Amino acid sequence: MAPIFAASASKRLIDALRQHTRQIILIAALVFVAALLGSLSRPTGFLAAFWPANAVLVGILLRNVLLSRISILLAAAAGYMAAAIAVGDQLGLAWLMTLANIIGAATVAVMLRTGSDQDRSLSRPQGVVVLLVASIAGSASGAVPGGAAMAGLVSGGYFDGWSAWFAAELVNYLALIPVVLTWPAAGIQIGRPGAQVAPIAALVVAVALSLIVPHSVAIVFPVPALIWCALSLPMVATSILVMLYAGLAMLGLKLGFFAYGVSGASTMAVHLGIALVALGPVMVASANVERRRQMDRLLRLAQHDELTDALTRGAFTEKSRLLREALVAEQAPVAVLLVDADHFKQINDTHGHAGGDRVLVAVAAAIKASIRQGDLFGRIGGEEFALVLPRISLREAAAVAERIRHTVENLAVVLDSDDVQSVTVSVGLAFSATGAPPITEMISLADRAMYDAKRAGRNRVEVYQVPPREMQGY
Ligand code: GH3
Ligand code: MG
Ligand code: MG
Repeated sequence: MAPIFAASASKRLIDALRQHTRQIILIAALVFVAALLGSLSRPTGFLAAFWPANAVLVGILLRNVLLSRISILLAAAAGYMAAAIAVGDQLGLAWLMTLANIIGAATVAVMLRTGSDQDRSLSRPQGVVVLLVASIAGSASGAVPGGAAMAGLVSGGYFDGWSAWFAAELVNYLALIPVVLTWPAAGIQIGRPGAQVAPIAALVVAVALSLIVPHSVAIVFPVPALIWCALSLPMVATSILVMLYAGLAMLGLKLGFFAYGVSGASTMAVHLGIALVALGPVMVASANVERRRQMDRLLRLAQHDELTDALTRGAFTEKSRLLREALVAEQAPVAVLLVDADHFKQINDTHGHAGGDRVLVAVAAAIKASIRQGDLFGRIGGEEFALVLPRISLREAAAVAERIRHTVENLAVVLDSDDVQSVTVSVGLAFSATGAPPITEMISLADRAMYDAKRAGRNRVEVYQVPPREMQGY
């Protein structure tokens, strides 16, 4: 037994080591590719215009849970160094810049970790403030060695080098980290495409204008369109557009895409300007995410009964009306069910109102478990529930009603007093093959059937089928 155990333990160790090695190589490769891409955006010897490697490293530091932070940083350092050597940087300079990149990215990651998950997903404006503070801290600390590297390359003293590094790193963090933070784990939800075409078209026009108008103010032309995008698109889409805008602006300035030029001395000012422009739409988008979340919460509260989580009477009526319009247009069948708890007064009398509430919650849960996704379920009276089952045959609807009756009959509700209470329901079913009668009418018919079930002894299902002649006049 022992040798087998030892063998499987060492196999596990080897597997874990292999997995770690694979991840370390992957991280080094990712940083290498990102740094190489960044290096393409710089004329020899100058700071890169667009430097995605540090934001990529921040993303890895925030998301990776398998490797220790030190292993990640060492792997990243290898990636940075390899890229510097590949583009022919002087070795001493390459070390200094690698150190600057590592310090900057590690600082940003550590500071972002101090925020909550909600902050890190930028789904409230405080998250953007955390991002800004973290980016400033990362850029400022990275610029300490970075400034020394820059000082040797640009004219001016150490502080000029520090400032140039700070501004360039800040704009890269603010343009790129939102994409890293808002990239969804499970696919991007695309809303109504119609509402998204106009702001994107406006952005394209604004960017085109900013390229052809020969004045430096043109660089802010896309701002209103970006804010419109922030209000209409998913958060991650806004982040991507902001990244594209900032990337285009930085690269465009360096490569002379714009009809106006920018002198070397003002590059730092332009970097800071783009950084702040990038922040605006991200802030608007995050405020919008928070607003939408609160609206959804309010809407849910307004539409659902607090006790049973069924739709309130008003929400049920409104949703039924809309559903019926669709059903009439489709000539689709519909069933309406009315479910009323039997002798509920007695349950209240025996166990008190709170005990009765507990039973009601259990009945509602049993009903919910018996229906499909698109069915409507509302509480329309104290111990009375209604359901609309669209696009269903009479046989299927009767089976649903019977399933509800049967499930409730088998409930054993444990009360606070430890008493176990059973309960039954009487169900009235009204069915129309063409979805034609108004839902209120269908509910009255189901109500009639429900009273038939009561009269026939309770704990049963009665069906009322709307005959074709009764459809006249609807
Ligand atoms: P039947 O089988 O004829 O339906 O008898 P019943 O006792 O259920 O009918 P009745 O309509 O006379 O009484 C319904 C009872 O449901 C009366 C009311 O106190 C109780 N009820 C209504 N809403 C609530 C609620 O939210 N919680 C509790 N615990 N009881 C409620
Ligand atoms: Mg009742
Ligand atoms: Mg009742």
